[in-house]
Amino acid sequence: MSNIIKLLPDSVANQIAAGEVIQRPASVVKELLENAVDAGASSVDLFVKDAGKTLIQVADNGCGMSALDARMSFERHATSKIEKADDLFAIRTMGFRGEALASIAAIAQVEMKTRLSDEELGTCLKIEGSKVIQEEPCPCQPGTVISVKNLFFNVPARRNFLKSDSVETRHMIEEFTRVALINYDVAFSFVHNNKVVFKLPKSSFKARIVNIFGKSYDQKLLPVEQTTGSLSIKGFIGKPEFAKKTRGEQYFFVNKRFIKHPYLHHAVENAFAELLPSDAYPSYFLDIEIDPSEIDVNIHPTKTEVNFIDARYVYAVMQSAVKQAIGKHSLTPTIDFDVDPAIDALFQTTPKGEVLPPEIQINPDYNPFDQQNGQPKPAAFKPAKRQSEDEWNQLHQPLIEENSEKSILSSGFSNGQKEPSFDPAHRFFQVHHRYILTNVRSGLMIIDQQKAHERILYERFLAKMENNEAPASQQQLFPITIQFSAGDAELIRSMKDSLQKLGFVMEPIGANGFVFQGIPQGMSASETESVIEQILEVQKQRPENMAAGKNTILAKSLASKLSIKAGKKLSHEEMANLFDELFACQLPDVAPDGSPVVSIVPIEELERFLKEKK
Ligand code: ADP
Ligand code: MG
Repeated sequence: MSNIIKLLPDSVANQIAAGEVIQRPASVVKELLENAVDAGASSVDLFVKDAGKTLIQVADNGCGMSALDARMSFERHATSKIEKADDLFAIRTMGFRGEALASIAAIAQVEMKTRLSDEELGTCLKIEGSKVIQEEPCPCQPGTVISVKNLFFNVPARRNFLKSDSVETRHMIEEFTRVALINYDVAFSFVHNNKVVFKLPKSSFKARIVNIFGKSYDQKLLPVEQTTGSLSIKGFIGKPEFAKKTRGEQYFFVNKRFIKHPYLHHAVENAFAELLPSDAYPSYFLDIEIDPSEIDVNIHPTKTEVNFIDARYVYAVMQSAVKQAIGKHSLTPTIDFDVDPAIDALFQTTPKGEVLPPEIQINPDYNPFDQQNGQPKPAAFKPAKRQSEDEWNQLHQPLIEENSEKSILSSGFSNGQKEPSFDPAHRFFQVHHRYILTNVRSGLMIIDQQKAHERILYERFLAKMENNEAPASQQQLFPITIQFSAGDAELIRSMKDSLQKLGFVMEPIGANGFVFQGIPQGMSASETESVIEQILEVQKQRPENMAAGKNTILAKSLASKLSIKAGKKLSHEEMANLFDELFACQLPDVAPDGSPVVSIVPIEELERFLKEKK
């Protein structure tokens, strides 16, 4: 047999790899701004045309490059930022993989002008689809100007899938904001189609926040500052009374790099605790400085996650820092009116008059912002575990579409109870964002919303796998590649058929990786990895079920992962839909894990209950 394996030409390899780093104009903006900051610029200007589809230009006054470096910078894995593996544990720069410029040059027409400050002439370099088409000395300012034109000009599929200008612009603004917020000692500007979007002078962190989000923020911020050992947390939180009903501005930075961190987010939410109405979100801008050796940098180039080696410690410091900030602030309202002595104790001052941080126990009935009658009133606020609105809507789409037939209501309700009498004006009532109450002929029905949704999803998934129904899959514009350990990859291979019936469209890549081109309807792309991990986890815990109940286990874990959770507020229509769907199930009254979903308190029971109270 003849040999058939060939090495991909660099330009093709670069184009493929570029897909991971550069997904849209905003990715270019992020990479170029980060490079400018890494180059030590004190002033960075972003100039964009047509939402970045025509032009993205970043000009900086940083260190610039020699002619050779300019040329080298476009090579894959060309970086000046790490030299040896050990450097990976001491990274202070934004970039370090040396992939961005090579990726951008593979899928756009790029022009770079760059000059070292002590040279007279700079270099002008033009590259198109990874090919150098011009390279010559040229007069220019010290620093670097990179112009990226006609993004995806040679990848029409990508170009055609870019979203509307307004969507792409929003993404660019978000990336710009993330870099500009924390690099407040650098001046930034952002001009889009000749209109100034931002003009930000070098300033303090607070002034930078105000310059980006508007003057009103001047009154809304509370300073946060806590340093312990090699960890420091500094920045600002929004005063609780200004908390937003939509997800507010939530920015964590680790060593000047924007990150998302649900665990630390929880620490902040927790610190706000009762001071925040359950439907409001706190704003925060928090800069975490930590020894680079205490974080794991070995992460995907475009991921915004960071793993702390000791996350629980960071959590504790974060929570205490935010509490302290709120505690100092809350001192003012408490002197206006009589308060519970327990609250007073929280704000005791030391002999020096210094404010002590409040302890963890906060009186849940105390709400300093409710000042009607000058008396603190019991507040009905409870912090709730939140799920994004989008997530829920996505999950619920099928519920609304697949309107189930009312006649099924009687058939499945299996524990001998009378069928729930249902009419269109049927009312539902949600208790503590957890239980749905409704009136049925025999009394009061209580439904556990999370368990109910698990049951619905479970039966739906099972039906898909067993009836060979066409899987409901959503095609991913940007396929998700996940690398597994050899063992996990094997497990995935063994489940491939079932996974595909659930809506996963997947192909193996490399030794132990899979590319997911489609995922089940109702799941969001960002959940893919965690859903798969959960499935693997369950499979590993119960190897004895592997053969027999493989579908059941898969359906169970996917249902528990994707179900709406306790704590989620539901509209009346959502409750009605959930109710409909639930009673269209074969076993509406037990969850896939065996726990009860529905219970009816008979009317006599209610009577007895009330009588006993008398
Ligand atoms: P990385 O930032 O991960 O090192 P890039 O592909 O973004 O990789 O950049 C490659 C190299 O090009 C950088 O390491 C840096 O030496 C150089 N470089 C890129 N942009 C600039 C700039 N604006 N000013 C000076 N040098 C730059
Ligand atoms: Mg870079």
